[in-house]
Amino acid sequence: MLELSTPVKFVKRVGERIAQGLATRGVETVEDLLYHLPFRYEDRLNPQPMAELVAGTTASVIGEVRGTVLLRTRSGPIFEMTLGQGLGTVKCMWFHGTYLKDRFKLGQLVAVYGKLEPSRSAMAAAAIAGQGATAGRFKMIQPQFEILPEPGATGADAEFAMLEMGRIVPVYESLGGTTPWGAKLTSKWMRRVAWSIFDELYEHGGAARITASDTLPAALLQRLGLPSRLDALKAVHFPEAGTPMAELMSSTTPAHKRLIFEELFYLELGLELKRRRMRERVGTAFATGPAVREALKQVLPFHPTAAQKRVLGEIVGDMRRPQPMRRLLQGDVGSGKTIVAMQAALVAIENGYQAALMAPTEILATQHYLFARKLLSDAISPNTGKPYKVALLTGSLDDRTKRETQGRIMRGEAQLVIGTHALQEDKADFANLGLVIVDEQHRFGVQQRFKLMRKPNAEGVASDPDVLTMTATPIPRTLALTLYGDLEVSVIDEMPPGRTPIVTRRTTEERAPEVWEFVRKQVTQGRQAYLVYPIIEGSRDDQPELDFPQDGEEQAPPPEPSPRKSKAATASRAATKAKATKLFATKPKLRSATEMYDELRAGPLKGLRLGLLHGRLSADEKEVTMARFRRGEIDVLVATTVIEVGVDVANTNVMVIEHAERFGLAQMHQLRGRVGRGAAKSYCILITGNNVTEQADARLNAMVATQNGFELAELDLQQRGPGEFFGTRQTGLPEFRVANLLRDRAVLEVAKSEAERFAAKPDPTLTAAEIAGVWDRLKLQWKRRYGLMEA
Ligand code: ADP
Ligand code: MG
Repeated sequence: MLELSTPVKFVKRVGERIAQGLATRGVETVEDLLYHLPFRYEDRLNPQPMAELVAGTTASVIGEVRGTVLLRTRSGPIFEMTLGQGLGTVKCMWFHGTYLKDRFKLGQLVAVYGKLEPSRSAMAAAAIAGQGATAGRFKMIQPQFEILPEPGATGADAEFAMLEMGRIVPVYESLGGTTPWGAKLTSKWMRRVAWSIFDELYEHGGAARITASDTLPAALLQRLGLPSRLDALKAVHFPEAGTPMAELMSSTTPAHKRLIFEELFYLELGLELKRRRMRERVGTAFATGPAVREALKQVLPFHPTAAQKRVLGEIVGDMRRPQPMRRLLQGDVGSGKTIVAMQAALVAIENGYQAALMAPTEILATQHYLFARKLLSDAISPNTGKPYKVALLTGSLDDRTKRETQGRIMRGEAQLVIGTHALQEDKADFANLGLVIVDEQHRFGVQQRFKLMRKPNAEGVASDPDVLTMTATPIPRTLALTLYGDLEVSVIDEMPPGRTPIVTRRTTEERAPEVWEFVRKQVTQGRQAYLVYPIIEGSRDDQPELDFPQDGEEQAPPPEPSPRKSKAATASRAATKAKATKLFATKPKLRSATEMYDELRAGPLKGLRLGLLHGRLSADEKEVTMARFRRGEIDVLVATTVIEVGVDVANTNVMVIEHAERFGLAQMHQLRGRVGRGAAKSYCILITGNNVTEQADARLNAMVATQNGFELAELDLQQRGPGEFFGTRQTGLPEFRVANLLRDRAVLEVAKSEAERFAAKPDPTLTAAEIAGVWDRLKLQWKRRYGLMEA
């Protein structure tokens, strides 16, 4: 008898061969297969008449084959098939479509899906007749198609005809692989297999058994108005007639919601448990008496903003508690997170502990070190009566200095230790680490974050240090709660006073001379500028620009978002590919930082003092150049994205980004945040080539339209999806089977509150068996899917 756990090879129409192929796609059981959900639906119960079609929209159309022809053109064979319905026609075209030559028969019914374009003959006819309409005549390039069952069909074709006609029909992404006789595992195949599975489950009592051991308690489902798991799966694969198409397409039918809720509920329940466990851990309760307050006040170089005060209050509130702090500080570029971090560090130091500040690049670590030295080295600690001791520990220090610094850290002589990932090396043992601050956290992986958190205390004290992570990547709250589910979140939502908006403009390469003229003028007025290039030298665009390898994270410059297996893309994939190849063939040479440094110095910016900064310079060279730029001895810094994070030189008021179309939105926003830090009016100029994709165009326009990091992050999320936005492997963001954090935020909120409620106290409406079932399932799911987050 069929169970959800039955290996898929025992399912009718699957068998050993196909099962092997499916296994490579992670489909091993009946359950796995049923979770391969349709990504869209076609309403073949009420198909759209051709007369009502609208050019420019994506539509599914049913018609009869009126004619086929294989055209030989200079760029290869094109297969054309004309589909008709009354007076309307849709001409379907496939490039290199020779393989389709014998697929269609005149009069056959075919369903096609694709983007409707007005056909040329229709436009000509409409023009002659003086009409605007295209009179029901369209064309479709590379549509998806399905030949519909014929009246005289026999065998399986007849048996399953009702799956393909006269109903809402599910369409699936191909699972890849083929049948033993070489046929693709099409939607048709998937439909038939899924149908057979449900048929057997509902006919032979399996359904009742599965529902009796549902993965969510019945009372909970009832309260939320959601169907049982099996009913939900059935309805998602084979929607009842009358299910609104809009709900199906947006995954918001009750059936979809049920499956999404389940997934998010268990995620949130696991996170809730982690939060609860964290509250039980032993940390340090820091004291904040008048002496500490005095210490904080005396180092402040300016009046903090209300937002800075508020978040410091939240942080200090955590630090006073005996549980270890786990807090995320979010604040847009330039909102002033550093000073808040320094103050938190002082609280730990005044309590006799060490604080560590970790930054993703050496340039940033060095800058923080210089800032901290300026701030703290002259200040006298009320606690010790001596100046504070700040140390820098980075990977590029020579061995002697490194060992010497490590010694000071180990003996507790260094009170504030600033560094890169080198801080995590085993030898960097702290005498008494009380607080860890991670700057630009999104640049680090989850593993690294945890490694530092767990560093054992040298005195063997079994308490955890407090941890404050900081990021400029603004994340919608619900997403933050999932991604950083075990963290509290503070937000700096206000900029320091005196900032003027940054004027952002886009322009093209041809007008670069005007840009150089503008830069020259600004420098004459005593200002400085950054010019950013996507690559260091040559034209290779795979040159990493960070100081440590970023496993899996996107490198600068980001690749143009690939046509992800975004839902409607299957049909146009071949076309996109063809287009992409063409683009690459004619790709203009990229200008690089090194070459432009030479070119500008000798040409357009002759006479100005230029500096060059990129990731391949030695740490010393980088430091010298940054120091000279900071002191104003360099007017124009030609750089790569090494300056993306954290760099803070207030006199710089011009940011020029060349090849801006190649940069990601978050990256451009970060780069722009390097200016607008002083009183002078600031400018961000985005120079692009002439080949700008639609997506890049949207990014550039968004940059011009807004300076609000939250709005930009939203667009970035939409363009790239949560997985790429956060870098799944980096952050431990789980891959979901059904849920989509962007689309399903509303369900996520419900799941979160239900999970909290469930974890808080036993629900009297649930049986003991149901409650135990939830915990068992959580363990299973957490282990199997979110193993990484257990770190
Ligand atoms: P980010 O949040 O991007 O790390 P920083 O901490 O580098 O921002 O701060 C940006 C700039 O603003 C720095 O030059 C800093 O000294 C300055 N700054 C921060 N807070 C204030 C404030 N309250 N008043 C004036 N200047 C401030
Ligand atoms: Mg910063």
